[in-house]
Amino acid sequence: MRALILSDIHSNLEAFDAVLDDADALGGYDVIWFLGDLVGYGADPGACIARLRRLPHVAIAGNHDHAVTGKLNPDLFNGAARAAALWTSAQLTGDERKYLAGLPEVRQAGPFTHVHGSLRDPALEYLISEPAALATFALLETPFCLVGHSHYPLVWTENNGRAGVELLAPSRPLQLDDQRRVIVNPGSVGQPRDGDRRASYLLYDRAEGAGAGTLHHRRVEYDIAAAQSRILTAGLPGSLARRLSEGL
Ligand code: ZN
Repeated sequence: MRALILSDIHSNLEAFDAVLDDADALGGYDVIWFLGDLVGYGADPGACIARLRRLPHVAIAGNHDHAVTGKLNPDLFNGAARAAALWTSAQLTGDERKYLAGLPEVRQAGPFTHVHGSLRDPALEYLISEPAALATFALLETPFCLVGHSHYPLVWTENNGRAGVELLAPSRPLQLDDQRRVIVNPGSVGQPRDGDRRASYLLYDRAEGAGAGTLHHRRVEYDIAAAQSRILTAGLPGSLARRLSEGL
């Protein structure tokens, strides 16, 4: 069984397509597990929604998906994110809006729980501190939790009541073990923020009867200039184009 674990695509069609091409070149996949924030920031919300819906997938909602469907007040966002949410909301067809509004916040599938932010605040909490990680471990009912939202590719592990964190790297596949609970973030497809501008995602690979499977971290170059030019042509804030070059 092979799953693509994608998060925070943020209407960046160039990055999304580059990730799909990369996964196809590696031998393909059975399903996409999408962890929220399909839209917001980028210039191609409709095309990204169509692309995901055409592929075998399960998805949950992120805070930006909520902001464009009226479930979250965009005034809670900073200026550029708010402008993008309002612009995106105006682009959506009724059918696209209905799809985003119908996404759940939490999903359990086998040994995995999927949530955008954290289990104590699914859409909004950033899992980037030890107290936040411990709170989600306390609520977690499966061995493994997959999160997005912070745009950092990382893994939290439990150890004697403490939680430790490590950045993921393509050179270090993560062997999963049912007896060792972890919270894993694949990083962001469409707006990486860890200083590496390449799209980030995970490929989950599990052979029948062979343990809990392995997570492979991937970083993929994509046509950043094209994504930036689409953002500027759409009249979205220039900062949203600039930050793609920096991966911040
Ligand atoms: Zn996001």
